[in-house]
Amino acid sequence: MKSTVVNEVRLAFPSVSANEAFARSAAASFCAQLNPTFDEMSDIKCAVSEAVTNAIVHGYRDALGEVQLSMKITDDRVFRAEIKDKGCGISNVEEAMRPLFTTDPENERSGMGFTIIENFMDSLRVVSAPGKGTRVIITKKLSMLPRVKG
Ligand code: ATP
Ligand code: MG
Repeated sequence: MKSTVVNEVRLAFPSVSANEAFARSAAASFCAQLNPTFDEMSDIKCAVSEAVTNAIVHGYRDALGEVQLSMKITDDRVFRAEIKDKGCGISNVEEAMRPLFTTDPENERSGMGFTIIENFMDSLRVVSAPGKGTRVIITKKLSMLPRVKG
């Protein structure tokens, strides 16, 4: 059966590091309406903030650009987020997604962002090309609400 979108938001903000925390809070506020468990909520916050951080620190590097964060909830309790930048893009997505792969070891990056996202979410899709920017699409199906007794 096809799911129906029950709520949707679209945010756009400049690639300044203060917006990493903003995106994290925005994701938490948006998914709160699904009454997630503590773990589900922290997984979503973490995944969104890893992807937004990547857009800011890698996508735009030393430049300033726009990051878009779109989030959706469907009636089957699936949370979906898309994080999009129009930055430098990734030449080899498969390599970039490997654990410990980083192009930025000087800044103490550990190359674990995509691995963390993959572990915390049900699905991760990265669409990117050099010079064309990057789109990261993540989904997570939340558990059913506990039954209220009585
Ligand atoms: P960490 O997330 O552990 O701090 P990291 O950001 O290098 O380190 P990942 O998040 O796994 O690790 O990303 C791996 C690599 O993919 C990055 O080093 C970078 O080269 C590339 N990358 C990721 N997101 C983007 C993006 N939005 N634009 C351009 N390159 C990106
Ligand atoms: Mg990262």
